[in-house]
Amino acid sequence: MSRYVKNQIDKLDAYTPGEQPRDRSYIKLNTNESPFAPSDRVVEAIDDSSVQSLRLYCDPTCKALKDKIAQVYDTKSTNVFVGNGSDEILNFIFMAYGERGVAYADITYGFYSVFASLYGLKSRVIPLKEDFSLDSERFCGINQLIVIASPNAPTGIEISVVELEKILSTNSDSVVVVDHAYVDFGGTDVKYLTQMYKNLICVYTFSKSRSMAGARLGFAIADEELILDLEKIKYSTNPYNVNTLTQIAGLNALEDDEYYKSNAEIIKKNREYTTVELEKLGFEVLPSQANFVFAKSKDISGKDLYLKLKENGILIRHFDKDRIAEYIRITIGSIQEMQIFVSKVKNILGELQ
Ligand SMILES: *Cc1c(COP(=O)(O)O)cnc(C)c1O
Repeated sequence: MSRYVKNQIDKLDAYTPGEQPRDRSYIKLNTNESPFAPSDRVVEAIDDSSVQSLRLYCDPTCKALKDKIAQVYDTKSTNVFVGNGSDEILNFIFMAYGERGVAYADITYGFYSVFASLYGLKSRVIPLKEDFSLDSERFCGINQLIVIASPNAPTGIEISVVELEKILSTNSDSVVVVDHAYVDFGGTDVKYLTQMYKNLICVYTFSKSRSMAGARLGFAIADEELILDLEKIKYSTNPYNVNTLTQIAGLNALEDDEYYKSNAEIIKKNREYTTVELEKLGFEVLPSQANFVFAKSKDISGKDLYLKLKENGILIRHFDKDRIAEYIRITIGSIQEMQIFVSKVKNILGELQ
């Protein structure tokens, strides 16, 4: 880094996104994208006139999109915030509510610790239990910003509503975030709790279940006062955070929500197939409510399996991190992709004999 940069940035460990290699074509099971195309409605909506409209600034209030989200999610537009990917919303949340420190699990989405150090916040890192479930007792009554991915990444395990409510009710002076990036794949949506708990923010993304990772669109549902906080930060950084084409794409995606629901059902079936096949091959597979599975072989290390699969044209995710170094995270793709994945794993394990 240059000698001009401030110390806190110099020391910062930035987030490392999953590989997006352009050198050859891989079966990409490493960044939890959808194997399905955006809906036809989305494709048709990005037409000549929408491209022409790029001449003008986009609607900074995102009114049409917010109204549509409110309708589909059975809430009010004033309870909705939209952002440039849910990462931006999380960024704003850390900026706004982390003053007394922030608590999150030791094994969870990697961006939480990055935001914490970006803003110089004190992190309380609470280890997941032995079975990788959340140690919810330890989140109770701490009155710090609390961030919980549910279903969690990279484990796929969700928190129960009973435990979440304990955390919410014992931390009424601080904000609790539920990151619902993977909720559409069988998780429990807790948005209804935002009416009772004024400190709850649920964060969603179009990147996973709605096949729009490249469009950068996320949203949050919360009490109106919290939404106003986030709006204030947005208008203090980038009022045009969600561009015109993405607003149009998001609106049209929601018009075709049945399409994405049926895609999520297919992913759930393919997840079941993958789990069963991996178990037959002697893997331990965590129970997942997400569009990925987290699995450990008894015969090969996580790192070696990752490298072997890459040689074979398949990308998965391996985290070189305490407690989970023996695991791999496999995004659930199309059934054809999962069949190829399983047969490559079989070959790789066969070669070890
Ligand atoms: C993918 C992911 C996000 C980021 O989603 P974007 O909307 O693409 O920024 C946020 N949280 C979790 C847990 C994720 O896995």
